[in-house]
Amino acid sequence: MPRTIEKSEALELLSENRRKILEREDECVMCALVRRASQSAELLAETEHGVLLLDRFGTREGHLLVIAREHVEDTPSLGWEVYAELQRLAYRATEVLTEVLAPARIFLAVLGASNALPMSFPHFHIHVLPVYDTDERARPAHIFSWSAGVLVYEDEEAEALASRLRQALAAATR
Ligand SMILES: [Zn+2]
Repeated sequence: MPRTIEKSEALELLSENRRKILEREDECVMCALVRRASQSAELLAETEHGVLLLDRFGTREGHLLVIAREHVEDTPSLGWEVYAELQRLAYRATEVLTEVLAPARIFLAVLGASNALPMSFPHFHIHVLPVYDTDERARPAHIFSWSAGVLVYEDEEAEALASRLRQALAAATR
């Protein structure tokens, strides 16, 4: 099972991870994830305008991200066609999460800080976040925060989960 770590430890891991993936120190992290998506074990699906990835720093098992390929910050700047395509990818993600992990609920959210923060980015992305608890722990304010801890996977765990989700997605598209 992936383990939950505290926010301070997660921030350290995140900056270590960032040094590995960024081309330049000021590169947008979401742009870097998109750039590396095709060689990454976390890639679940991709379309013309977006990628669907397993979030390695999520708050629950199976926390996924739909990320716009282009660095666009505001929803209206995407245009409806691109926005609709990204939401369709998020919808497919909810189908496979339901099938593979059977969460109690799936939250969908477009968040992102207006200025880049250590764990929040303005580049358009959609969180697809399965929730397994049905009590207080399932409250959005709790789920969409790192304060209650961050889930981290060992590489093999992430690869195994990504592979299950990828297979389910591929089967659903046939
Ligand atoms: Zn970006």
